Amino acid sequence: MRSREAARTFSDEQAAIRRARAYVAMYVRRGKLRPGRCELCGDRHVCPDWDDPGKPLAVRWFCPAHRREHLADTAAARQGLEALRREFAAIGELPTAVLAGLHEAALRGLDGTGAEPGTLRYRLALQFAYRALQARQPL
Ligand SMILES: [Zn+2]
Repeated sequence: MRSREAARTFSDEQAAIRRARAYVAMYVRRGKLRPGRCELCGDRHVCPDWDDPGKPLAVRWFCPAHRREHLADTAAARQGLEALRREFAAIGELPTAVLAGLHEAALRGLDGTGAEPGTLRYRLALQFAYRALQARQPL
């Protein structure tokens, strides 16, 4: 009979975090890695966290309170990125004529000095033009 633990399924990210946690725990047990202090307050009671769980030794240490804060900040940043992705997807769905107008505006750049397509300057100007368009005529 499979244990409940073995039957659990994890997202790829959850699985990567579990692997990283096990890896770091093994390093700590073998004395090859010492837990640091909370990088925000210096507390010695810490939990590991990773920007990239695929790099388990690039561990960051946070006390429980700061880890919760860090996770909330990370989640907010992800939501921001997701909102941005949706916005650019919505721009891509616009009628060709509207898109052409936004493209012209984006080529002028935010400050009128021009922006090359594909650059961050262009994308920011495109986003700005899209938001201005939405403000004028809510979709
Ligand atoms: Zn802390």
